[in-house]
This record gives sequence, C-alpha cells and structure tokens, in this order.
Amino acid sequence: MPRAYTPSTNVAQMKESATIAASARAKALRAAGRPVIDLGVGEPDFDTPSFIRRAAQRAIDAGATRYTATEGILPLREAIAGEANELAGGREPVTAGDVVVSTGSKQSLFNACFVLFGAGDEVLVPTPSWTSYYEMVALARAVPVNVAGDPDRGLKVSAAALEAAATARTRGVMLNSPCNPTGAVYGREELREILDLAEDRGWWVISDEIYRRIAYERPACSALEVAPGRERLIVVNGVAKAFAMTGWRVGWAIAPRAVAQAMTAFQSHTTSNATTVSQHAALAALTERDAADAAVLEMVERFRARRDAAVSLLADAPGPRHVDPEGAFYLYFDVSRVPSPDGDAGGAFARHLLEQYHVAVVPGSAFCTPGWVRLSYAAPDDQVMAGVARLAAAYAERVGGTG
Ligand code: PLP
Repeated sequence: MPRAYTPSTNVAQMKESATIAASARAKALRAAGRPVIDLGVGEPDFDTPSFIRRAAQRAIDAGATRYTATEGILPLREAIAGEANELAGGREPVTAGDVVVSTGSKQSLFNACFVLFGAGDEVLVPTPSWTSYYEMVALARAVPVNVAGDPDRGLKVSAAALEAAATARTRGVMLNSPCNPTGAVYGREELREILDLAEDRGWWVISDEIYRRIAYERPACSALEVAPGRERLIVVNGVAKAFAMTGWRVGWAIAPRAVAQAMTAFQSHTTSNATTVSQHAALAALTERDAADAAVLEMVERFRARRDAAVSLLADAPGPRHVDPEGAFYLYFDVSRVPSPDGDAGGAFARHLLEQYHVAVVPGSAFCTPGWVRLSYAAPDDQVMAGVARLAAAYAERVGGTG
C-alpha cells in the first residue's frame, strides 16, 4: 500500500495562498459556465505596454536565452540603483551590488525573510497585510506578530502601536504602502516615525513598495526617502503591478551589501537568476523613461476613474463602510455585521456574494481580519461597477440597510 504523505515540519502549518485560492475558485465557476465577475484577483487587467514587449522580442533575437548572474543583469541592477538614488536624494548611495533581482517581488520578500529571521524571532506584521507575509515569516521559522491597524486611520498602524507590540525578541517589521488589501497610503510623517522607531530599536525593516507608483491622492512615499539610514532597510519592488507585468516574474530587493550577498547565495541554491528575457523587459520598463511614464500614467488614470466611479456609486447606494482608497487597486469593506455561524463574517459574505450574486471577492481572513472583504478594481470598468452594485445590494440584503 502506498504510504500517505505527511507534510514536513517546514510546511506543516502552511496554508495555501487565500488570494490565489479565491481566484482559482472564481475561474473554476466561470469554466463551469457560471457568469462570475472576478473581483478577487490582484492583477492589472491591462496588456504589458508594447514598448516593453518589443524590447523582450529584441532581446530573445539577440540571444538573451541563457543563465545570467544569479543577482541579475548589471544594467538592470544599475537602473534599479539609479531610481533608488533619485528617491533617496543622494543619501547613502545605492549601487548595483546592493540590488538582487528575483523571480517576482514575492521571491524577494521570501528571500529577505529567510536570510534575516529565524527560530525564536518575532516579526511585526501590520494587520491587515498581504496574506503571504504571515506565511513567509513562519516559513523562516519566526513568529509573525499581528499588530492591528486603526480603523479610524485606514487600518494603518502607528509607531506607537508597533512599539506596544514589540518584545525583546522583535527582529523586524513588514511595511507595505500603498497597502494590499486596504489601498491605504502611509504619509511621509507616518512612515518616518515608524522608520525612526525601527532604527532606534535595531529592527530590520522590509518595505514592500510594489504599489508605489499606483497612488491617487499624493505620491506614495518610499522608505528610501525618509529612512534615517539603509543599514537595516530592505526595499522590495518589481514590475508586476505598475507595468502590468505580473506574468514576467521580475522583482528586486535593495539591501545592505551583506544582506544582498546572503540573498544572492540563497537564491543561487534555489532558483538562480530571474528569467533572462524578463530581465531585459524590466530593463526597458525602467530605462525607456518617457514611454514608461506615459504607460504608467495611463493605467493609473484608468484605475483612478474606476475608483472614483465605485466610490461615488457607494455614496448613492450605500454598502458597507470601506477604507478610503488612496492607492493600489483595492476596496476593503467592513462586513463584520453580516451574521455568520463561525465568526468569519467576511467568509460568509464572500460566499453569499459569489453564490447568489456571482461576484468573487477575497474574504478578509486571508489578511487576518475576518470581518472584512477585499474587492479588486483591476478589472474591466463595467464589471467593477456591476460588482460594486451587487456587493452593496448583497450587503443590504444581509444586514438590512447601510453599514
Ligand atoms: N506584495 C504585495 C503587497 C502584493 O500584493 C503582491 C501580489 O499580489 C506581491 C508583493 C507579489 O508581486 P510579484 O508579482 O512581483 O511577485
């Protein structure tokens, strides 16, 4: 008889990515002929801009089909360093040796957690946060410590809240602005206070800035702009969201040299370099500045128009309370008043919305806030509007009136 598989201790506690699972469920329903509107997936619905696709085609024809250095091709790392130096205004210059290119920012985040944290360490995770931070910290055998965001401040955390949650075992903090799942953006001062605290306490800061260029009210501030130094700062970014390049799988980390070297060594034993042709595509995205700025601006304006339309629809047909969406492409709704047998109001509401109204959203339990649901407006305009209207109707049906 074949022996049953028993998960190793490394993954015994690991859960599948809830955001990817929600999207897979919506796709399966669609494949079965149900007219599902998928507002679960966090992926721009635009094509990769043509100047980037053309650069990739040229690179393939020029032979960019072999391994590169594990940490990535030099011109790409130089371009990333150049952009970082523009943000940092010349303080503590970043050089190509501080940059490691990986297979998506997800890999950069995992590698950073893995080389920085270990058994017995605690890592502060502002909550709600993107589902994978909790698992990445746990896979590094450290303990993710949820620090609840303030509902009156877009579910953002303050330096004081982080300080209150810290112990002698705290080694680091995960930051993400603009934030997935809320769309909240940390202001300069808010970010500065947190970075000052981290510096003071000697914590590592991993700042995930994957949505930095998708901001509406004000430019999203990078940790590079306000950090007192780079000695314990890892800034992660990539091309996936701003350039509609999710499938190309290119992200990077800017880290102190010793950390960058450790991340490179770790990556050399796991995946080696990010896909060569994708690195050349990312190089075009970062260096063909006029075309890149125009393409990003056009996509951000489309997101902005959808956000504005969705918010004004919610003002006319009130649904549940939501976080003021200042960046990324998410609306985060408080559905805690929806009755649920198991205390997971977000899960109950998401199921009801999918089954009765054919709209897929992600339950807030994926982000450690079970009373909420996340709706992504990275979908065609008509679907976003229909989805938001149905969400408001479903909520009224469940809760009876406004939230
Ligand atoms: N960080 C956050 C906050 C995200 O929402 C995502 C994707 O959803 C990622 C990182 C991963 O992006 P990438 O496609 O570059 O791996």
